[in-house]
Amino acid sequence: MAKDELTCSFCGKEKTATDLLIAGIDAHICDKCILQAYGIVEEELVTDALDISEKELKLKRPAEIFEFLNQYIIGQEQSKRVIAVAVYNHYKRLLQAKTTDDIEIEKSNILLVGDTGTGKTLLAKTIARMLNVPLAIVDATVLTEAGYVGEDVENILTKLLQAADYSVENAERGIVFIDEIDKIARKGDNPSITRDVSGEGVQQALLKLLEGSVVNVPPKGGRKHPDQKFIQVNTKDILFIAGGAFAGIEKIIQQRLNMQAVGFNASMTGDDVDKENIIKYITPKDIRKFGLIPEIIGRLPALTYMYPLDAKTLRSILTEPKNAIIKQYEKLFEMDGVKFTIAEDALNYIVAQALVYKLGARGLRSLCEAIFMDAMFELPGSTIKEFHVDAAYAASKLNNSSLKKLRIVS
Ligand code: ADP
Repeated sequence: MAKDELTCSFCGKEKTATDLLIAGIDAHICDKCILQAYGIVEEELVTDALDISEKELKLKRPAEIFEFLNQYIIGQEQSKRVIAVAVYNHYKRLLQAKTTDDIEIEKSNILLVGDTGTGKTLLAKTIARMLNVPLAIVDATVLTEAGYVGEDVENILTKLLQAADYSVENAERGIVFIDEIDKIARKGDNPSITRDVSGEGVQQALLKLLEGSVVNVPPKGGRKHPDQKFIQVNTKDILFIAGGAFAGIEKIIQQRLNMQAVGFNASMTGDDVDKENIIKYITPKDIRKFGLIPEIIGRLPALTYMYPLDAKTLRSILTEPKNAIIKQYEKLFEMDGVKFTIAEDALNYIVAQALVYKLGARGLRSLCEAIFMDAMFELPGSTIKEFHVDAAYAASKLNNSSLKKLRIVS
C-alpha cells in the first residue's frame, strides 16, 4: 500500500476497494460502513420508541388500573371502570403527542358526582399515586372571578406547581382535583342578569384551564398584579377531575325519567327504575339543569357517579383496603408494643353509628378517633400490652365523647 493511500477508518479498506469514501475531520468512512451504521441507528431508535410506549401502556391498561384502584377503594365499580378508561386514554393521548398523526385525541377530564365521604378525593389521590404525578386538591368554593374577593382560578395551578416542586414539566402532566364543583353552579335555571361572581363567572374562568391553554401562573399564589413574575404553564396535558355532591340532583333525574316515561321513550317506567339508586341514571343534561354551563360539561366528558355507602361497604372500608382505618390503628398500637384487636360486634357498632352521622366513610375515622382516644393516651409507656375493643367498650367511650354530644345537639 502506498504510504498516503486513503483507507476507511472503520473497516480499514483502501479507497480503491470501496465505491465511496467520505472524509471527516481526521477520519474517513466507506459506503459499506455508512450503510451498516445507519442500520444500527435505525434499529436502536425503533426499540427505544417501542420501549417507552410499551412500558407506559403496559403498566396502565384499564384492567390493571382498575385492579390498582381496587386495593384502596371499596365498591364504586362503575366509577373505577370509567376512571380506568379515562386515565388509560389520557396516557395514550400523551404518547400520541409524540407522533405526527393528525387525528387529535381529546382530553378525557372526569366529573364525579356523589355525596360527601364516598371516596371522590380518595379516587383522585389513588390515581395520582399510581401514576406518580403531582396532585393538587382545590376547593371550587373559594374561587371567584379575577378582581373579586376570593382566589383567582390561576391559583389552582400555583398549587399544582407547588406539588411538583416547581417543575413545570412535571406539573404539566399532573392531576388537579377540583372539589365541590357543584357550588359554582349558576343559581337558578335562568342565566342571571346581575353579575354572578362566584357562579357562572368562575365557570367561564375555569373553562380556560380545562380547555388546555398556556396560563400565566403567579408562583406564590395570591392576586395578580402588574409587576409580578409569572410562570407559564400549559394545561393541555393536565388531567382534571372534578367532584361534587350535587345535592338534589336526584330530583332532576327523577323528573327527566318521568318525562321520558310519558313520552315515546317509555322504556324506563315504574318497576324498571332502580329507585334506591337514581343517581346511576345521571346524564350531562341533568348536570346542565343543575347549573353547570354546557362548555364546562363538554370539557368533563367522563361523567360518573359514586353510590352512597351502605353498611356492608362501610364495614369493608374499616378493614379491607390496603391502608384501612383499623389496619392503621393496629400499626399505631404496635409501635407502642401493644397488640390491638377489635371484635366483630364493635366494628358493626361503628358502622351503625357512621350511618347515623351521615358522613359516609369520613364518619368512620372520627368515630374511631373518639373510641380509641383514651387508649391512645394511656397505653404508651404503660404495662398493658394488649388492647381489645368490643361493642360495649366502643359504646361507653363514644357516649362520653364530644362527638356524641355533637349529635345530640344537632
Ligand atoms: P369525598 O371526596 O367523596 O368527600 P373522601 O374521598 O375524602 O370523600 O373520603 C373520605 C375518607 O373515607 C377517605 O380518606 C377514605 O379513607 C374513606 N373512603 C371513602 N370512600 C371509600 C371507599 N369507597 N373505599 C375505601 N375508603 C373510602
